[in-house]
Amino acid sequence: MRENIVQYMYLAAGLSFIFAIKWMTAPHTARRGVLAGEIGMVLAVLGTFVRPEVTQFTWIIVGLAGGTAIGLPLAAFVPMTAMPQRTALSHAFGAAAATLVGVAEYIIRQPNLDRFTMVVLGIEVLLGGLTVTGSLMAFGKLQEIIQGRPVVYRGQNVVNLSILAIALAGIAWLAIDPSNAVVFAVVVAAAVVFGVLLIIPIGGADMPTVIALLNSYAGLSAVAMGFALDNKVLEIAGALDGSSGFILAVVMSKAMNRNFRNILFGAFGQVTMSAKAEGEDDRPVRSGTSVDGAAILDGARLVVIIPGYGMAVAQAQHKVRELSDALERNGTQVRFAIHPVAGRMPGHMNVLLAEADVPYDHMVELDEANELLSRADVAIVIGANDVTNPAAKNEPGSPVYGMPILDVDNAGSVLVIKRSMGPGFAGIGNELYHLPNTTMLFGDAKQVVGSLVSDLGESR
Ligand code: NDP
Repeated sequence: MRENIVQYMYLAAGLSFIFAIKWMTAPHTARRGVLAGEIGMVLAVLGTFVRPEVTQFTWIIVGLAGGTAIGLPLAAFVPMTAMPQRTALSHAFGAAAATLVGVAEYIIRQPNLDRFTMVVLGIEVLLGGLTVTGSLMAFGKLQEIIQGRPVVYRGQNVVNLSILAIALAGIAWLAIDPSNAVVFAVVVAAAVVFGVLLIIPIGGADMPTVIALLNSYAGLSAVAMGFALDNKVLEIAGALDGSSGFILAVVMSKAMNRNFRNILFGAFGQVTMSAKAEGEDDRPVRSGTSVDGAAILDGARLVVIIPGYGMAVAQAQHKVRELSDALERNGTQVRFAIHPVAGRMPGHMNVLLAEADVPYDHMVELDEANELLSRADVAIVIGANDVTNPAAKNEPGSPVYGMPILDVDNAGSVLVIKRSMGPGFAGIGNELYHLPNTTMLFGDAKQVVGSLVSDLGESR
């Protein structure tokens, strides 16, 4: 009876997770999606509480209290701009849980460990272990605790694949002799080392795709844990996590024109870094004031706004909305060009603009944006850099080479709002700033956009 209740709760939790993912695919149903995910998680936890074999609650409560003590401040205080590293940290926690459960099950089930469970536990600790260290490395790179540039050496792929082969051989060995704890320890150690080696050759700019992939590995590890524990909700949630993370990684690598095979083998992001860093470039740029900017915008028929990470840092989205309203009052058509990796997390710009009530139909994706840019009178780049860098098309040695970009340089005039000539995430200069149709409006995005709004009003 009790077992049936558990299974029904798990089924309801699994359905909630499926609907959560479905609803999160569109902005107007996303809140419902989050709620469905939360309900699913509550059902999964409660379902586990009523399982007949759970007789002791003390350690569960200690674990829940510890998790809450870490999770609540992470949710409440980590700024939106640091969301990717927070996500990486969450993957590390989830994968650590899967790995520790795998190790505990290995110890508890001795000496009666059957071959199937042994292989599943091996896969669980392999995927879990590499996700823990891989995610911590990704966190370190994004938080700039460790160097973001790729660490590349000769024979790197051979070393990486050899360590992976050791782990796989260990799992095969354990399938024959599950009692060999030393081999099990070697599998865990190889997984942990492999996670570090997998991430070091990957440049900071490619980290978003890697995080999506690590998400997928953590999910697959949870599936393995579900099989080992015969736990349906873990199997369902892990499969959803594994497949959605994988699809996101494929979509993102396409958006950045990266070779997906290279991501899987950690050989991605390897570039010659020949691009000039800003500061090495002493060519002049034309800078102007907000009055100059307002004069350029006055009378424009089509303006495309390109938001980027700097808009998020300055929290300028509400001012940007005011600018868009002011332009529309002047009879100008305004569209927002959203690059898939603008900002620091997938959908970052959509979230901020939606918060400022920018209508969804004003936000256009890459292809449509580039078509609009070719006939726009003015493009306003607000705190975006890498996603507009023509080096992605023209400089094969550049870390951003091959990434599809917003062709801002095709617009009649370009206004760039940023504080200095400092580089963006990829750490390189931007040819766009030196083009004859570009005017730099130096300053904090919120402040400069605010001045543009006032000056536009006065120029009427
Ligand atoms: P970038 O990081 O390329 O550039 C941001 C620019 O904003 C900087 O050049 C900076 O210049 C400017 N800036 C910073 N603060 C302010 C401020 N207060 N006011 C005005 N400007 C400011 O951003 P993009 O959005 O163009 O590109 C995103 C990059 O991040 C890509 O390389 C992408 O691969 C990477 N990435 C993306 C993730 C994602 O999932 N979206 C996750 C992790 C990385 P200055 O200092 O001169 O003001």
